[in-house]
Amino acid sequence: MHIITIKLSLANVFLVRGERWIIVDSGAPGDGPAILRAAARHGIAPTDIGLILLTHGHIDHFGGAAELRASTGAPIAVHQADLLLLREGRNPSSLRSTGLEGQLLRPFLPWRTTPLEPDITVEDSFDLTPFGIPTRTIHTPGHSAGHSVVPLPDGNLIAGDLLRGGFLGGRLRGRLPNPPYFVTDAAQQAASLQVALSLPAHTWHIGHGGPLAVEHIRARAKRLGLG
Ligand SMILES: [Zn+2]
Ligand SMILES: [Zn+2]
Repeated sequence: MHIITIKLSLANVFLVRGERWIIVDSGAPGDGPAILRAAARHGIAPTDIGLILLTHGHIDHFGGAAELRASTGAPIAVHQADLLLLREGRNPSSLRSTGLEGQLLRPFLPWRTTPLEPDITVEDSFDLTPFGIPTRTIHTPGHSAGHSVVPLPDGNLIAGDLLRGGFLGGRLRGRLPNPPYFVTDAAQQAASLQVALSLPAHTWHIGHGGPLAVEHIRARAKRLGLG
């Protein structure tokens, strides 16, 4: 399994090698060209990309998806519970900050963008086997209603915003497991963390900062609201 991390100004994007390549998340609006330039540096052409998979429907994760689709022709997949967020092109006002940093971040987040119609809406779990990766997404709601993670067969897990790394978008102590900046449903979020921790992964690749060692996540379980 081959995973490439592209660090953008606001969020991380991942390229995973399957039959062709899958892009997981797409950055903020305007990030599409930077993602394709980064892919090109790894020898990956737009036509080598077969799927744009979104962990969830926040603008810093789906903002570049339409630009990527236009250049690659790849379909965009998202869990159905976040469909409305894409269609309305906005972040939900119900997002609750988990701490001071989330509150401070709020004014700087993109809150509106062009509405996006995905090509594939995932009912529960999306099978990546047809794309050459023998795995399925796992629905992990809480940060958003449709948030999903991507466990890879080699023990890497693409975990979206299930956790964040460090502070200041991961610029400071980016490998320190911290709660996400925002949650929609705290009880669901705690349950989803348990689900993800039950998976046989060693490393979580997350949207802001990271990567996180699973051992380190377990060691900070209390701080993360897990008991
Ligand atoms: Zn998010
Ligand atoms: Zn995010």
